[in-house]
Amino acid sequence: MQNEWAIETKTIQCGWEPKNGEPRVLPIYQSTTYKYDSAKEVAMLFDLEAAGHMYSRISNPTCEALENKIAALEGGVGALVTSSGQNASTIAITNICSCGDHFIAAGAIYGGTVSLFTNTLKKMGIEVTLVDASLSIEELKTYFKPNTKALFGETIANPALDILDFEKLSSLAKMMQVPFIVDNTFATPYLCRPFEHGADIVIHSATKYLDGHAISVGGVIVDKGTFDWTNGKFPEFTTPDKSYHGIVYSEKFGALAYIIKARVQWIRDLGSYLSPMNAFLTNVGMETLHVRMDRHCENALKLATFLESHPKVSWVNYPGLPSHKHFGRAQKYLKGASGVLTFGVKGGMAEGEKVMNALKLAAIVVHVADVRTGVLHPASMTHRQLSKEEQALAGVTPDLIRVTVGLENSNDIISDFDQALNTI
Ligand SMILES: *Cc1c(COP(=O)(O)O)cnc(C)c1O
Repeated sequence: MQNEWAIETKTIQCGWEPKNGEPRVLPIYQSTTYKYDSAKEVAMLFDLEAAGHMYSRISNPTCEALENKIAALEGGVGALVTSSGQNASTIAITNICSCGDHFIAAGAIYGGTVSLFTNTLKKMGIEVTLVDASLSIEELKTYFKPNTKALFGETIANPALDILDFEKLSSLAKMMQVPFIVDNTFATPYLCRPFEHGADIVIHSATKYLDGHAISVGGVIVDKGTFDWTNGKFPEFTTPDKSYHGIVYSEKFGALAYIIKARVQWIRDLGSYLSPMNAFLTNVGMETLHVRMDRHCENALKLATFLESHPKVSWVNYPGLPSHKHFGRAQKYLKGASGVLTFGVKGGMAEGEKVMNALKLAAIVVHVADVRTGVLHPASMTHRQLSKEEQALAGVTPDLIRVTVGLENSNDIISDFDQALNTI
């Protein structure tokens, strides 16, 4: 029955399924440990011979309910919640790539992800090539090497707001026999379901719209469960893991191999599981995801339309505007263009800074995707650590102001930007 529910029903009903007499609302299982009647049962858990909670560094009932909800929304076979979106990106890659491996990522992605990929994963011997995803499939193919193990991109790029060309990139990944990993943070499963457009693995910064209230940092990895790990490129899935008495993940777990391996190797060893309290908060946020996202889209479109007609504004970038370079693609893949827009003012960043400082309702925040309207200047904030070339590839120009449009009354939001623009 659950599979047939509409997404509005799933956001509320999926995940926590109380049995007779149990709490109706998902409880916070604030326990590190779990009771079993015999030593043998615990030994079987350690050997992955039985499923069950053992220790909250690896799994927990509150977190599991959130995992099941997100897996249901994305249409995946399983999910794994992590301490942050950054950790989800890290594990999504390290679960596939080892020292000596290579992967390809679209250049227009979140600055923190660029730093992770180009600096920290590099220290682990994993090499990334950032590419211009607008190149043709033939040109993109030339970046692949024998040790290339994955292709990575964002549904709606933060903050370039490019819309991923799912059709092209998923066929490229298929042709090169590597998984297509999509960061679906800005779209959420309400606005886009990447598995329906050829993605193999989806990740989220749950800190953003899934939580939606700026109260909890978290991440999630979801697996569609259909990628063929036995195609010869992924020995970690098809050869014995000596840390589990020689288990072979693809044989033992089939469609669940990727998520189980991520949990029992990476989460076990790095200790970066989500806390039950944060899973609870994220779950409460997600219960209204569909209602919030409709309004975020509506308010963002109204503000974008207003800014586009304002004499002090030099350009506006919002995928819901017909003037956006990927408007057609947004119509094709998204139910709405989400709540983030960017713009520049005449006079460049010097004037832009004055506008940001003059805003009263919209605050300057290092955050995006919650109920409150906020602004940020990526070149000096989120994308500050990137080189000039990386900034250009990420679509970050010096004058770009990113707006996360909240759920306040749209007239109040527009008035605030109007008064701030009129100060310059
Ligand atoms: C914020 C963000 C991340 C990182 O997530 P954290 O929860 O802050 O670690 C990754 N991808 C995108 C698109 C983001 O916006």
